[in-house]
Amino acid sequence: MSDSHHLPDPQQPHNHAHCVSHALSAAEQVCARDGVRFTTLRKRVLELVWQSHKPLGAYDILETLSRDDGRRAAPPTVYRALDFLQEQGLVHRIASLNAFIGCPSPEHRHQGHFLICLNCHIAIELEQSGISDAIAEAATSQGFTISSETVEISGLCAQCQAAA
Ligand SMILES: [Zn+2]
Ligand SMILES: [Zn+2]
Ligand SMILES: [Zn+2]
Repeated sequence: MSDSHHLPDPQQPHNHAHCVSHALSAAEQVCARDGVRFTTLRKRVLELVWQSHKPLGAYDILETLSRDDGRRAAPPTVYRALDFLQEQGLVHRIASLNAFIGCPSPEHRHQGHFLICLNCHIAIELEQSGISDAIAEAATSQGFTISSETVEISGLCAQCQAAA
């Protein structure tokens, strides 16, 4: 079982360093299990994606890398690192924002279901398996085979509603 249920609610103030260290150690385990290399660049890109619970675009990642390293990071290498992280299930791509968000429980394969706040842009991953079941059932009833079922629900998070 995933221990993601012990992770803090991203909507509440919390020690985010804990989220980052959990994500990095989970990534190391996933890469070791799959026999793939968790290179310095891949790790660095994952850390950047995890800098908050808000999806981050490839361009922002490039900018930060270039600024921190004092030289322009080559876009193809960053895109390849993002592809790798996505293939390993370490990040999810949020299509509506053309951005990436770290996955808190990459140990098991799953589709991404997200609540995305229109105001603060936080993305909250839903882990209720019933969502996938309902989608699978609806697709089957149409004789449809699913290849991807990313769900992106936009609205206002609890924090932003409280602040309004
Ligand atoms: Zn956090
Ligand atoms: Zn996930
Ligand atoms: Zn919000």
